[in-house]
Amino acid sequence: MVDEKDVDLNDFLAFMSRKGLNTTAQRRAIAAAFFDLPGHHTLEEFYQHVAKSNPDIGQTTVYRTLKLLCDAGLAVESHFSDGVARYEVAGPESHHDHLVCLGCGKILEIIDQRIEKLQRELAEQSGFTLSGHVHNLYGLCADCRGTQRQ
Ligand SMILES: [Zn+2]
Ligand SMILES: [Zn+2]
Repeated sequence: MVDEKDVDLNDFLAFMSRKGLNTTAQRRAIAAAFFDLPGHHTLEEFYQHVAKSNPDIGQTTVYRTLKLLCDAGLAVESHFSDGVARYEVAGPESHHDHLVCLGCGKILEIIDQRIEKLQRELAEQSGFTLSGHVHNLYGLCADCRGTQRQ
């Protein structure tokens, strides 16, 4: 499993002050809620989560703060089979790929250093140095395979 606790609120606060941006109490609360929520969430899902403890924070503020977290490299936005943006906590050591179920939308995190290495080698053969990649595998999870008989 990927350890998502290698980034925290202090990294966000440091980013904001480097950028000369004002860290409001709302932005701070949103960032704290984000770092505490494991998994891959749409803006709507994350907004609902934030609203539970902070009912007066608007969805636009949540969205803007998510974008700031992405700019800071502390969040990653991914698009899976349904094309909806999903956000998850990111850090320098948190790279992983995804296994996505087309039946129930379940998203599992996978990482294999052989694949990571092979990708770097393939890129080098074409004279590239990689700054990142997106690697999503689609299919049916064991639960969904059990209910869809084919
Ligand atoms: Zn499934
Ligand atoms: Zn992930």
